[in-house]
Amino acid sequence: MHEVSIAQGLLDIAIEHCKKGGYQRIESISVKIGKASGVVPDSLLFAFETLKIGTIAEKASLTINEIKVSGYCKNCECRFSVEEAYVLECQKCGSTQLVIETGRELNIDEMEVF
Ligand SMILES: [Zn+2]
Repeated sequence: MHEVSIAQGLLDIAIEHCKKGGYQRIESISVKIGKASGVVPDSLLFAFETLKIGTIAEKASLTINEIKVSGYCKNCECRFSVEEAYVLECQKCGSTQLVIETGRELNIDEMEVF
């Protein structure tokens, strides 16, 4: 369950930003999670719901935007975007010389504070 420490990390960052800006509470947090980041969205949501209690983010909602794994093949230069969490070889030429450009994200996208 490393989602617990990830949720705690996101919460810490959000609270710090909120306090620095002189705001009182967090209304919503929106995060980008790449499919290849290894994070299970449901587990992250569950951990967040538990951890936020007693903090200034107690009433905050968490929205998770999943980012597809995409990139390009160095061999045939085709671009790809897949639904799976991992791409091992190029679907066109079979090369393993892949450059992953998106899918590993794990960060706060937007926050609403008051
Ligand atoms: Zn290729």
